[in-house]
Amino acid sequence: MFGLIVFIIVIFLSLKFHIDKQKRIRSFKMPAGTKQLLSDHVAFYRNLNEEQKTVFENRIKDFLQHVTITGVGTVVEDIDRILIASGAIIVIFGFPNWRYNNISEVLLYKDTFNQDYEFVGNDRYILGMVGDGALQRQMLLSQVSVRASFQNSADGHNTVIHEFAHLVDKADGSSDGIPEYLLSRPYLMPWISIMHKTIEEMRQHEHSDINFYGATNDAEFFAVVSEYFFEKPDELKTHHPELYKMLEQMFRPVNKI
Ligand SMILES: [Zn+2]
Repeated sequence: MFGLIVFIIVIFLSLKFHIDKQKRIRSFKMPAGTKQLLSDHVAFYRNLNEEQKTVFENRIKDFLQHVTITGVGTVVEDIDRILIASGAIIVIFGFPNWRYNNISEVLLYKDTFNQDYEFVGNDRYILGMVGDGALQRQMLLSQVSVRASFQNSADGHNTVIHEFAHLVDKADGSSDGIPEYLLSRPYLMPWISIMHKTIEEMRQHEHSDINFYGATNDAEFFAVVSEYFFEKPDELKTHHPELYKMLEQMFRPVNKI
C-alpha cells in the first residue's frame, strides 16, 4: 500500500514537472529586436547567409527555452541572453541535431568571481566555469566578460565559447580535451597526438600565439583553441595548419580532411 502511494506521488510530481516545463517553454518569448541585437553584436551571425541566420535564430530560441539565465547581483538584460545563447550555438552550429542536455541554468555574475563565487573583494579572476558537484547542470559566467567577449570578436578570447566548449567536451562523461561526440573514431588518436604535441611546444617555448592558459591541461587546451578557431580562424590556419584542420573537422564535419 505504502509503495503504491509513493508510486502515485512520484508519477504526480513528474507529471507536474513536465507540465510546468511545457508551460515555461510555451510562455517563453524571444527578446524584442533579437535579429537586430544579433546583427549588431554577433559577428558569427553576420557572416551567415539568410537561411543559416534563420536556423541560428531558431536554435538560440530553443536554447533559451530550455536554459534559464539567472542574475547574481545583477539584472539579466536581453543582450546577455542573446550573447550567451549565441556562444552556446556557435560551438555546435555544425551539428544540426545537437542540443545541450547537460545544462539547465546559467548563473550570470555581475563581474569576475573567486573560488567561493564571491564577486566583490580581491582575488577575483574567474570569468566563467562549468559547474560540478552541487552546481551540476549549471554554468557560471561573468556579465562583464560575456559582453567583452562579443565586443571584440577577433581577439581570440571569448569566455562564452570557452565554457560551452568545456560543456561539449564534458558531454561524453569526462572533461579531458577529447570531445568524443565531435570526433569520429579515426580522428581520436590524431587529435590526441596533435593536442599533446602543441601543448609540449607551448610549455617548451613559454610563449605562444595560443593563449598560454591552454597549456594548463588537455581540457583547457581544447577550450582555448576553440576560442581561437572561432575568433581568428585565418591566424590559426597560418600558424597551426594541422591543428586548424583537426578543429575544422570537429566543428564543421562536412569539410572532410
Ligand atoms: Zn576553462
